[in-house]
Amino acid sequence: MTDEIWGHVRNELMKSIGKNNFSAWIEPITFHSFDDGIVRFLVPAKFIGSWVSQNFGDVILRHLISAGIGADRIEFKVDPSAMASAGNANNAPASDMQSPAETANLGSGGRSGGNGKGSTLPAATLNPNFTFDAFVVGKPNELAHAAARRVAEGGPVSFNPLFLYGGVGLGKTHLMHAIAWELQTRQPQLRILYVSAEQFMYRFVRALREKDTIGFKEMFRSVDVLMVDDVQFIAGKNSTQEEFFHTFNALIEMGKQIIISGDRAPVDMEDLDNRIASRLACGLVVDLHPTDYELRLGILQTKAETYRARYPNLHIAPGVLEFVAHRISTNVRVLEGALTRLFAFADLIGSEITMDLTQECLSDILRATDRKVTMDEIFKKVCEHYNIRQADLIGPSRARNNARPRQMAMYLCKKLTTRSLPEIGLKLGRRDHTTILHGVRKIEELMTVDSQIAEDAELLRRMLEA
Ligand code: ADP
Ligand code: MG
Repeated sequence: MTDEIWGHVRNELMKSIGKNNFSAWIEPITFHSFDDGIVRFLVPAKFIGSWVSQNFGDVILRHLISAGIGADRIEFKVDPSAMASAGNANNAPASDMQSPAETANLGSGGRSGGNGKGSTLPAATLNPNFTFDAFVVGKPNELAHAAARRVAEGGPVSFNPLFLYGGVGLGKTHLMHAIAWELQTRQPQLRILYVSAEQFMYRFVRALREKDTIGFKEMFRSVDVLMVDDVQFIAGKNSTQEEFFHTFNALIEMGKQIIISGDRAPVDMEDLDNRIASRLACGLVVDLHPTDYELRLGILQTKAETYRARYPNLHIAPGVLEFVAHRISTNVRVLEGALTRLFAFADLIGSEITMDLTQECLSDILRATDRKVTMDEIFKKVCEHYNIRQADLIGPSRARNNARPRQMAMYLCKKLTTRSLPEIGLKLGRRDHTTILHGVRKIEELMTVDSQIAEDAELLRRMLEA
């Protein structure tokens, strides 16, 4: 592979992942080398490698493959020169290739087809972080977790096939990898194959092209446990589905365990072959529900704990994790990304993770998932809390018992909404933006010396965000 090809792939990536992601995560990485099916990149810091690998690994691989690069996987290496200039002690040694362990992978094994061509197929990897220990259980995922645990115990196959479904970033892949790790520990002799449906298709198409469908069939039918992730990808792709169906049946008949994931229930996948859908429905179908506040907070606390080991000098101010759990209500991947960024940012500037730093560092994510606390709600709550009338809050009275609540309202509007100072001023009795700024600063200042004010602010914030 050449720098030109990487240049082309970068352009494609920009289109598919968007400008922001591109500049935050792809821009900092540089192409290093390509051999043995492994494309290596240099990254300025370890966390960028992990981040890119987890979030964009698949799309990068996909674009490399469509650019004609026969890549099996990608790896990230911390750039020693970048590390020296950043003076960052948290980076791994440069030799520490940041890549999920190469396991449960039959693709490069000896049984991938008589002529060995199969060995250059995209390899399946298991993420070492996706274990049961690292999976936080809450109401929304307890059933899926219990089913996964049961299957991971091995023994006589009770749930076959196991079908896990749910929206993006809710832990489907995590649970599948966790099953694979657990099974492998308990029964090392098991042949476990984890592939994304996309990889299944690539392998199949390649086998067709290379006239090695026998090798393909042999490989897939020789496993004890087959896991196919994101099956929706092959819905509508007819010859791949057909092949998948046969593989599936052959394995079920042999009493082998199959675990599949998808973004919807089998019956809701319109383009999925009916025969596959009904086969899937014969096993156990469980879904992962959208996260709730408790689960999100639990996940954040668990992840923050692991970060604390890595960044022992970083402190998180009280309330920050609760705030993030409230405000980021989309998927867990976004939640994790936010935390990664927070730690990286705080580490970079050598600061504690305060509420202010959090708001600044995550402003783009917070805006996107804004819970839309309105200024009217803030005014109402402030009036209730201080027991004053809204007319006095907004009106001109300078009496202390009106002025302080008014400043509190200014502060909350600034912190909890995305309104600008002039907008807040306009709404709050046509006041000038400098008055608003002064009010916000006044409360911030008082919060550090007056515990009553700090408590009021915290209480109001919690009520408004709940
Ligand atoms: P999906 O495959 O459903 O799109 P993933 O399994 O890739 O989602 O999960 C996205 C990210 O969120 C992963 O980094 C995963 O470790 C993390 N994650 C999801 N659910 C949990 C959970 N319950 N506990 C801990 N981490 C989780
Ligand atoms: Mg997934």
